[in-house]
Amino acid sequence: MNTNTNNKLDCKTFQKELPDLVLTANARPSLAAAAHLRDCPPCAEEYLSFQATFATLDRWTAPEPSAFFDQKLAVLIREEQAAPRMSWFERLQTRLLLNTNRNLRPAMVSALALVLVASGGGIAGINYANVPVQPSATVNDLQILDRNEQAFQQLDELQQDEATPQTTAQPAAGVDSGSAPSLVPAT
Ligand SMILES: [Zn+2]
Repeated sequence: MNTNTNNKLDCKTFQKELPDLVLTANARPSLAAAAHLRDCPPCAEEYLSFQATFATLDRWTAPEPSAFFDQKLAVLIREEQAAPRMSWFERLQTRLLLNTNRNLRPAMVSALALVLVASGGGIAGINYANVPVQPSATVNDLQILDRNEQAFQQLDELQQDEATPQTTAQPAAGVDSGSAPSLVPAT
C-alpha cells in the first residue's frame, strides 16, 4: 500500500502484475509499473523478453491440416474400434501418451523415443491411431462399463484377500478366548 502511494513498486508487486501485463492484449503498464520498469533493469528485461515471446506466438499460425485429414482420421478410428483388444504394451503406451502428469513427460518422451528407434518407427502408426479423438457416446459407455467391471473385479479380489487373513485370525481369537477364562478367575 505504501509503495502504491509513493507511486513506486517493489519487484514482488511488479512480478504479480507482470502476467496481466503480458497476457492482456495491448495492455499498457500502469504509471507505477512503468516507473519500476525504468528503475529496475532485471524486471524490464523480463518484461521485454515476455513481450517478444508473445509477439512471436501471436504471429505464428498453425498449419492447416490436409483436406483429407478428417476422413483419414475417421478411417483410423473405425479400424481401431474394430481391432482386437490392445496388448499390455500398447495399453501402457496409450496410458503414457494420455498421461497429463508433467513429471512423467520427460521420461515418457525418452521412453517413446527409444521405442520408436527400436521399432524403426513401425509403432508410430499405432500411436496416432490410439489417440482417441472424441469417441462416440456408445464407445464411451462401453468403456465406462468395462472400467466398472474391472473395478468390481478388483474389489472382489481385495475382499477375498481380506477374507483369508480373517479366517486364519479366528483360531488366534479362539486362543485368546481360551486364555480369557484363565484371566476371569484372576479378576
Ligand atoms: Zn524489479
